[in-house]
Amino acid sequence: MDVPARRGLVNITPQVSEVVKESGIKEGLCLVNAMHITASVFINDDESGLHQDYERWLEELAPHEPVSSYQHNRTGEDNADAHLKRQIMGRGVVVAITDGKLDFGPWEQIFYGEFDGRRRKRVLVKIIGE
Ligand code: ZN
Repeated sequence: MDVPARRGLVNITPQVSEVVKESGIKEGLCLVNAMHITASVFINDDESGLHQDYERWLEELAPHEPVSSYQHNRTGEDNADAHLKRQIMGRGVVVAITDGKLDFGPWEQIFYGEFDGRRRKRVLVKIIGE
């Protein structure tokens, strides 16, 4: 992942679906997790109003500014808010694979949540089953 802004949400469902397809697994489990402590992987609706609501809600809970209000930032970093936002939105998800496809509830999509972007980060996909 390489989100060009400090924060952003990316629908990674097409990429994860492609990995499931390539695996050839028909019945199993698919784990997807962010490999960084300032990014999340979570499941919800792909709806722009909701995404704006997340941004506002997370900024209310853990505002980026003032950067000096966080103990963590005394290390010289400025991303304490990103660590907290990641904690709220979660590290990753596990989705059932049924008939060779991700078995979602209505409107469910997998998102990568970036909270301290403008650099390359990784997402791990691990699939087990038969
Ligand atoms: Zn940090």
